[in-house]
Amino acid sequence: MAQEFWQEEFETLGKNSLQKLQVERLNKTIEHACRSPFYSELYSKKNIKPGAIKDISQIEELPFTTKQDLREHFPYGFLSLPKKEIIRLHSSSGTTGNPTVIFHNRHDLKSWANLMARSLFCAGIRDTDVFQNICGYGLFTGGLGFQYGIETLGALSIPAGAGNSLRQIKLMRDYGTTAAHAIPSYLGRLYEVFEAEGLDPKKDTQLKTLVIGAEPHTDAQRKRIEEMYGVRAFNSFGLSEMNGPGVAFECTHQNGLHIWEDSYVVEIIDPETLQPVPDGEYGELVMTTLDREAMPLIRYRTRDITRIIPGECECGRTHRRIDRITGRSDDMFIIKGCNVFPMQIEGVLMKIPEVGSDYMITLETMNGADEMVVEVEVKSDWFRGDIKRLNSLSNTITRQIRDEVLAKPIVKLVEAGSIPKSEGKAIRVTDNRKNGLLN
Ligand code: AMP
Ligand code: ZN
Repeated sequence: MAQEFWQEEFETLGKNSLQKLQVERLNKTIEHACRSPFYSELYSKKNIKPGAIKDISQIEELPFTTKQDLREHFPYGFLSLPKKEIIRLHSSSGTTGNPTVIFHNRHDLKSWANLMARSLFCAGIRDTDVFQNICGYGLFTGGLGFQYGIETLGALSIPAGAGNSLRQIKLMRDYGTTAAHAIPSYLGRLYEVFEAEGLDPKKDTQLKTLVIGAEPHTDAQRKRIEEMYGVRAFNSFGLSEMNGPGVAFECTHQNGLHIWEDSYVVEIIDPETLQPVPDGEYGELVMTTLDREAMPLIRYRTRDITRIIPGECECGRTHRRIDRITGRSDDMFIIKGCNVFPMQIEGVLMKIPEVGSDYMITLETMNGADEMVVEVEVKSDWFRGDIKRLNSLSNTITRQIRDEVLAKPIVKLVEAGSIPKSEGKAIRVTDNRKNGLLN
């Protein structure tokens, strides 16, 4: 029988054994953390000692760690080991204030590469695949994170890097790429280049699997990507504070992302009351590293909004599943008194066949009132077609967005390819309002 797990002994642990392992690893993590300036001060104030955890639910007695804490103790305040033992750093893609930076020793990098290999295997990728990694190599974790994972798995890696779509297509065709990783917003753009070259990825490449992640996207967008490329596309979730990719991944059943509970403690809390929410309910994801030595993080508030999917997965992995991230708590904006997440708007747009691959939301103050302007790319043949059809499309989009978010947008249709693109993760919202809270 074909091997079904990368590490069966960890991936199929029963609940009790998994929790026992978590308690052991959490105590060890606290021991490591107490060597860092930040945690040694915090924990001595609160009289928290290594060995204090007897049951994993006691984690709720520990204080949270926030992005603000990371920024205030930038750069070395969370280091639990002497600098001599640190061999790499990565930082987050945030654009304001001090970046958040994460350090790794040799052990940490090996564990991360193993989690990445486990994740790729879980999505059906094997050592026989030719895997093209289409994302930035550098401080962003997607490049090296995937690279070491692919090598650990033993597939043939093509470290393609980000951008340069013609070259990406050539690499795919020259080497017979069967699997690739890219951020979802880039794949729409890449498809437009395929089309402009008169190529069809379904016929002109050997792609079977895409791994998409690093930015929020809807199931509707995943389905589009699957159709455009004739592949199955799997959701990959991670954040640099928890290493990067390899934190949670979809298995071949595509029904949520297994979050690796031998390496992380996972909690979902109400971001207002900070109390746990029951399985199945949405809240903020809080995570604790269990296998990191250089820079453990305990009860880190990720700001990502998701939920635990109740029940077991048919694949046999016992690690619980989180639902796709609906957004970050700090992504939400308020317009005309309505709370809006950009993914609600994407969910509407990606189900409309005439809509192209990109959109942009701008919040503006116009004649004293705040307005939400949604620019929507429309496929070129439609855009150049009959004006009446375009008007009716614009009305449909306006109505559907209003029904979804309760605030009426100003919709502007633009031709496919005309919204400016960023090299990395897509920037979906710009707030130009007089009293705008974003930016
Ligand atoms: P960074 O640490 O800069 O790589 O950013 C990590 C953040 O990207 C996460 O906290 C999420 O907000 C977002 N992210 C990463 N992967 C996904 C995903 N699969 N779906 C939605 N958001 C994601
Ligand atoms: Zn599964």
